[in-house]
Amino acid sequence: MITHRMEPGKPIKLTELPTGSKEFYQGERETAVAEFEALREEFIELQVRLYAEGRQKLLIIFQAIDAGGKDGAIRHVFKGVNPQGVSVHAFKVPSKLELAHDYLWRVHQVVPPASMIGVFNRSHYEDVLVVRVDNLVPEAVWRLRYHHINEFERLLHETGTTILKFFLHISAAEQAKRFRERLADPSKYWKFALEDLEKRKQWPAYMDAFEDMLNHCTTPWAPWYVIPADQKWYRNLAVMRVIVQTLRQMNPQYPLSQEDLSGVVVV
Ligand code: AMP
Ligand code: MG
Repeated sequence: MITHRMEPGKPIKLTELPTGSKEFYQGERETAVAEFEALREEFIELQVRLYAEGRQKLLIIFQAIDAGGKDGAIRHVFKGVNPQGVSVHAFKVPSKLELAHDYLWRVHQVVPPASMIGVFNRSHYEDVLVVRVDNLVPEAVWRLRYHHINEFERLLHETGTTILKFFLHISAAEQAKRFRERLADPSKYWKFALEDLEKRKQWPAYMDAFEDMLNHCTTPWAPWYVIPADQKWYRNLAVMRVIVQTLRQMNPQYPLSQEDLSGVVVV
């Protein structure tokens, strides 16, 4: 099965990776949606087990350009999952307090504890993306961060966290289409900022930053998945497949009782 997982030590060129699903999915959209729904049922069941087991942790990171589909992917993929076992964090412009610490401080505080799935809408990777493109710190500072991030993720891995990182890959044309939709619909205005158009002009610089992020931070313990994301239905399916496959491997089990329950009667 196609997973879109990058291989450590095998660099990619982002411009050579398709944003459309055509070459990965030949079936009808309806078939993809049906598969997605079946996997969603399984996801819900596996998450109950993960929560009940109380031992393992799963961290799921989403990165993409503006309008790349981070919010939509989270909304669809986590629909129906017990909210008590999931924490979602959207990383915004750092506060004064956050900036007074090292850039991983705010991230480490919100990684998932045992039994939980943690979802990051943006992440520590912003510190090698927007920070790099907008020259918020000198190159000598952000360059060191690939190494910090790999070691930080290694620490999480070695202390029991499974890490999945999804880069939602859309074309510039698809981004323009989504921005136009946002501008044409007052119920979508909140998703749009004039600043988005300024950032759109920096498209090539962002693609360079994403490419370096993918190539430097694909490790055996925390690989990137580059998801063709122009078609939302394929994006959802591809992400769901990876999550369910991963949870199957984690194989969480309902724990046995610590007490002897044999012969216990409720009166
Ligand atoms: P949104 O995801 O549309 O709500 O926007 C969040 C904004 O926060 C984006 O413009 C990000 O680039 C910005 N942001 C997130 N993390 C950082 C960071 N570490 N440094 C600077 N800007 C950031
Ligand atoms: Mg935005």
